[in-house]
Amino acid sequence: MCGIVGYVGARDCTQVLLDSLAKLEYRGYDSAGIAVLDNDVITTCKAQGRLANLEERIRQQGGIKGHCGIGHTRWATHGEPSDINSHPHGNAVVSIVHNGIIENYKTLKERLEKKGYTFISQTDTEIVAKLLDYYYNGDPIEAIRKTEARIEGSYALGILFRDFPNTIYSIRKDSPLIVAKGDGEAFIASDVPAILKYTKEYYLLESGEIAILHEGVASFMTLDGDPIEKELLVANWDMEAAEKGGYEHFMLKEIHEQPTAIKTTIAPRIVDGMPDIEECGVTLQMLKNFNNIFVVACGTAMHAGIVGKYVIEKLARVSVTVDVASEFRYRNPILSPDDLVILVSQSGETADTKEALRLSKDRGAKTLAIVNVKGSSIAREADYVLYTHAGPEISVASTKAYMVQIAVFYLIAFELAYAKGQIDEDECRRLTKELSSVPKFIDVILAQKDNCQYVASKLVNAENLLYIGRGLDYALSMEGSLKLKEISYIHSESYAAGELKHGTISLVTDQMPVIAVVTQRDLFDKTISNVKEVKARKAQTFIVTHQYINIDDDVADYKIGIPTIDDMLMPMLAVVPLQLIAYYTSVLRGNDVDKPRNLAKSVTVE
Ligand code: GLU
Repeated sequence: MCGIVGYVGARDCTQVLLDSLAKLEYRGYDSAGIAVLDNDVITTCKAQGRLANLEERIRQQGGIKGHCGIGHTRWATHGEPSDINSHPHGNAVVSIVHNGIIENYKTLKERLEKKGYTFISQTDTEIVAKLLDYYYNGDPIEAIRKTEARIEGSYALGILFRDFPNTIYSIRKDSPLIVAKGDGEAFIASDVPAILKYTKEYYLLESGEIAILHEGVASFMTLDGDPIEKELLVANWDMEAAEKGGYEHFMLKEIHEQPTAIKTTIAPRIVDGMPDIEECGVTLQMLKNFNNIFVVACGTAMHAGIVGKYVIEKLARVSVTVDVASEFRYRNPILSPDDLVILVSQSGETADTKEALRLSKDRGAKTLAIVNVKGSSIAREADYVLYTHAGPEISVASTKAYMVQIAVFYLIAFELAYAKGQIDEDECRRLTKELSSVPKFIDVILAQKDNCQYVASKLVNAENLLYIGRGLDYALSMEGSLKLKEISYIHSESYAAGELKHGTISLVTDQMPVIAVVTQRDLFDKTISNVKEVKARKAQTFIVTHQYINIDDDVADYKIGIPTIDDMLMPMLAVVPLQLIAYYTSVLRGNDVDKPRNLAKSVTVE
């Protein structure tokens, strides 16, 4: 949530800040702002709305000159999106951008008011700016140290002091921040895509460390002032990966990147035709000995976990509990050292998932992270990590990250089932081979995406929608439904097809289209009966099923046929039309597909 950037170097700072913010807009986009420090003067410009508004405002001001500055694109937590609440906050002496939440801001505000400070915004962030000002007496490090000791919550901060030209200070706690190193220039950013245009080299700032970017050179110290040597990392994403590359939206591009993302994610983990996840440190022997598996995640990642549950339980006969991270944390879960907790997060920074990880470790369980962003907090804190290799996912609505998360769950399930003796080597090889064939079948589905465009044209005016399925199809329907809600703003629910008649079918009329996912052939007749039930109540029905299966016209108004592979793996194919239907519906409704209202990516607040 929220994107922070900062630049010190020879280039035109405003341009660098705007370019970098554009790459982070997926993290928040309700307002944006920059502050540039030049010749002892901090010039600030901010604007509610998208980055384009800020650019326009800067242009109207005749531009802002300078070579050192900070920028922010906001996802409001405290105070509505407005010019005043936009970051940077501060005064003529100190200016800051902030990602996160200051939990004790009320107490601090009251104290500062007693000392004569007045506040103009509704943000928690302004308190930090005022606190820095209060403690500043010519020594920025001292002011930062004292401020840091007072504030509670999560924060990544970029800070300018008027009296220290060409210098940016930065600290963080629980909100991500990288410090990038260019040739005679240095950057801060919330995420790697922001800096790829300029450099691939970066450091990860840790909680309790201060970064000082001076005259284009970054150095680090502890809060006590001891210097720190940090490891320089190299991003393995290139700039094109963070560009739209000719697609109208990032989401469409990322849907098309799924075959490659799957290949890159599974190929290194298939050795001689057998799944092999031992690189992460979890051996066959360990896998065999886990009693229970918990999958803890949020949103789409949690849906990937539900697919994982169905597949692991079916194949390996190990009990899997899937939890929403924000619930798991507070339900006092029963965990033991023989349990494995799998944490799934694209960004590796999801606040609730991170706290669930810490809780699991505290209770002695083993933790395995499935994460896309190298070096992210969850990846570093978990006992074991399996990286997905989806490349940067920019669209707020996740597609390729979900796809590779489920691909990793399949690898785990195959290996676990084999370790437990539930499947023999031949079966394990067969399933692994089937998994490797998924990318080429997704290409086939993508080549027929007009189908999904057609379905979207039928849904565009709907106000409500139902997704139904049984077994793995139900697990998948949840993701289809969420995707539609996120970007088209049509209310939708996913239901276990057999459960519908126990209440929800009362909602079905000719105004309630139903999308049925029917790929599990052992459940086919049962789900089709449920489709007939809604059809009898005049619902328009759309069925996603195997291409070769004929569906009578009196059952489905429209069928989307997809290629056939092992039923166990069908979710990887069936999700693609669901993603495309959500995408085209959103486009047809004129929505901003990549930046849906009220949402932001990388949810670093609880
Ligand atoms: N809590 C701050 C605000 O509401 C920062 C939010 C963010 O991370 O974008 O302004």
